[in-house]
Amino acid sequence: MQTAFKGNIYKNFINNKWVESETQETIKSINPANKDQIVGYVQYSTKEDLEKAVQAAHKSKRSWRKLGQAARGQLLFKVANILEENLDDIAETMTREMGKTLPEAKGETARGVAILRYYAGEGMRKDGDVIPSSDKDALMFTKRTPLGVVGVITPWNFPVAIPIWKIAPALVYGNTVVLKPATEAAVTAAKVVECFAKAGLPEGVVNFITGSGSVIGQALIAHPLLNAITFTGSETVGEGVAKSAAARGIKFQLEMGGKNPVIVTKDADLDVAVEAVISGGFRSTGQKCTATSRVIVESEIYDAFKEKLVQETKKITVGDGLEDGIWMGPCASESQFNTVKKYIEVGKNEGASLVYGGEPLTSGQFEKGFFVSPAIFENVKTDMIIAQEEIFGPVISLLKAVDLEEAIEMANHTKYGLSASIFTSNISSLLEFIDGIDAGLIRVNAESAGVELQAPFGGMKASSTGSREQGEAAKEFFTAVKTVFIKG
Ligand code: NAP
Ligand code: MG
Repeated sequence: MQTAFKGNIYKNFINNKWVESETQETIKSINPANKDQIVGYVQYSTKEDLEKAVQAAHKSKRSWRKLGQAARGQLLFKVANILEENLDDIAETMTREMGKTLPEAKGETARGVAILRYYAGEGMRKDGDVIPSSDKDALMFTKRTPLGVVGVITPWNFPVAIPIWKIAPALVYGNTVVLKPATEAAVTAAKVVECFAKAGLPEGVVNFITGSGSVIGQALIAHPLLNAITFTGSETVGEGVAKSAAARGIKFQLEMGGKNPVIVTKDADLDVAVEAVISGGFRSTGQKCTATSRVIVESEIYDAFKEKLVQETKKITVGDGLEDGIWMGPCASESQFNTVKKYIEVGKNEGASLVYGGEPLTSGQFEKGFFVSPAIFENVKTDMIIAQEEIFGPVISLLKAVDLEEAIEMANHTKYGLSASIFTSNISSLLEFIDGIDAGLIRVNAESAGVELQAPFGGMKASSTGSREQGEAAKEFFTAVKTVFIKG
């Protein structure tokens, strides 16, 4: 039986075979809690390797389509069971590779299982509608049809859930896939792909290739046999993906950054709000696209809220996410660590006051990792860089608003529009918020970073191309509609 790895070297998966890159060059993946620990090596693939992956996906697309939706769904049930059997190992790999705590990694992997089962169930659901024709002797209906070969490019922050929430719907609706995961979490992704491999999918249906985004990611998007691309990652890379896909007229979907606001009104339950802001802002070390980064508080309760927030933030235990009792792990990589440190300096220089944390932790148990204490800034103005740019780290900015109207205006004063929360006990306030906020995910009395797999997920403005992932919404992207008219 072929395996995904040789020693600690993980391979590409092309045409149902685990293979090394032609050049046999590899890239090292390290543990951000201890950079001396190597999690594994992945292939530094070339354009030639990519060519084989795309050709394999192209070759299998007709037979995969013909297999039928129900049979494809049954295969996804098998993948779900295999992922569930391997949950502990995959979650531990995730924690070692990108730093989120083990309970969070287990939660994410369990979500991956649930997503697979959801889309497996789609195998038995409808794929079209009957529409009355103006001709009484005709039958008119729509039928969903796959797009063909779908490229999947994913980030490192949810290395199990995001590849699965793209691949599972792509497959059940009849597409074949080439996955290029983020290099920072490619060992975890290899283990996910191993679950697909073990389920016995036909040759070429799922292909997996690791390496540099600017080399093989770019080549994947530009490949003439690619029919669609789904991308989650930074706005900078997303822009390039959009240009390249639009130039060739292929369907594309981008989910990108956020600068997610939380509004706390004067009638909010402060304990609930503080707990949710801490969880939304600092869980996963602030590295969620839906993480809370700006907290806009009505002036009347500002001091009370700040005091409680600081008091509770002080209780956060930072350390290796594999250890019991650790609440917040390291930044996922040295470059994320440097970015966070940079923004903390930027914030101080532009006149914000650091009320708590924001210190790189570099001695003792922290010596070999990329640890920083959770940071809270105040005296933040809406135009400051720290209030505008996505930091993607454990940094919260506090802003003061005189009333709800000003708070909503401040919340919308960013190019992003992914998620947003309000804490209030006033019905008219929450209705005003729902109506006035520019965000794809709106949460009331709940943290900004919550997602349910059966509901549409995606942002507005620069956060997204406007299409939605997950739930039934995924069908819109991963299929085209054929309208059929039959004259009797
Ligand atoms: P990233 O740097 O944009 O990378 C994302 C993926 O794109 C990686 O697989 C990367 O490969 C690849 N890539 C890099 N350059 C490329 C190029 N020129 N052409 C094609 N692909 C290329 O993002 P990240 O740092 O992994 O993830 C963090 C970002 O993702 C944040 O902005 C976050 O907000 C966003 N995010 C958004 C959502 C959402 O649903 N809205 C969810 C999670 C994360 P390499 O790893 O090899 O560079
Ligand atoms: Mg790593």
